[in-house]
Amino acid sequence: MVKSCQKKYNISDELIAKLDGLLHECTLCPHECRVNRHTSSKGFCKAGYEAEISSAMAHHGEEPPISGSFGSGTIFFTHCNMKCVYCQNYQISQEGHGRFLSVLELSKKMLSLQQTGCHNINLVSPTIWIPQIIKAVADAAAKGLYIPLVYNTGGYDKSEIIKMLDGIVDIYMPDIRYSSNEMAFKYSGVKNYVENSRAAIKEMHRQVGGLVLDRNGIALKGLLIRLLVLPDNIDGIKDTLDFIKNELSEDIGLSIMAQYHPEYKAYRYPELSRNVTAGEYREVTSYAEKLGFENGWVQDHYSLSVEDMFRPDFKKEKVFKYYEDNK
Ligand code: SF4
Repeated sequence: MVKSCQKKYNISDELIAKLDGLLHECTLCPHECRVNRHTSSKGFCKAGYEAEISSAMAHHGEEPPISGSFGSGTIFFTHCNMKCVYCQNYQISQEGHGRFLSVLELSKKMLSLQQTGCHNINLVSPTIWIPQIIKAVADAAAKGLYIPLVYNTGGYDKSEIIKMLDGIVDIYMPDIRYSSNEMAFKYSGVKNYVENSRAAIKEMHRQVGGLVLDRNGIALKGLLIRLLVLPDNIDGIKDTLDFIKNELSEDIGLSIMAQYHPEYKAYRYPELSRNVTAGEYREVTSYAEKLGFENGWVQDHYSLSVEDMFRPDFKKEKVFKYYEDNK
């Protein structure tokens, strides 16, 4: 039995029961497959009842306020509710490589990452595992977990579910992949991505606001949005930047990523079969600067080798003021 946890994480037994109940007819994400995950039924994401993870480690390649000096306590969950044809982590997200973990084992993993000095618990692809994660956090909090929780999502979330995480998640780190539902369906197999991701991200921002760092430049709280620049999608990213500027705020953290490299099934799509050019990347970062975003990170496009593309490193270049102020 999982105990009610410390106030910090605001997790009640009622919330745990409610989230667990959703798995009887799964509507955790916008796919709303309505399969019973308490049995062996699987929906679009192929996730079952027991959590599956592929790895847990101190990650040093995230954005500087997330990785800090001691690393981000990153837990890569198996499966995903998006089927991106260019996914770099396709072995985990699409092919299901991972291992089962009970709630108590997951809680232990979180505590052990904290013990090693990690600045936060970074939950990668958490959307489809929220009930299991919340149970584990409740257990870990009762045993002393106190570092910030990072919700690191591809952005295909439901705002109603995100509302339930109010007071639990400290840092939201969503991708915004698309500003076109057609592209989202074609490349990631998801419907109504734009409406769903934007509504969910607005709710995230309502809960945690802009990115707040401590005196050492480590993130304590807030919203950090990641934009992966895809080839031939510059207008799409500009539209997303307009959305952030007009409907959220410039105080959010912004990470503009140059690391796209054709992977997995991307070669089936000629338009996705190349890296992003330096010109495309520069156009996006210049537009972000023109809109007044100052709290952000970019990658050094020229120095990204293919190997780097698998191990993103955000420490190589900075153009936004926030990074420079906190160096
Ligand atoms: S979490 Fe998985 S099973 Fe549940 S609605 Fe989403 S895709 Fe379907």
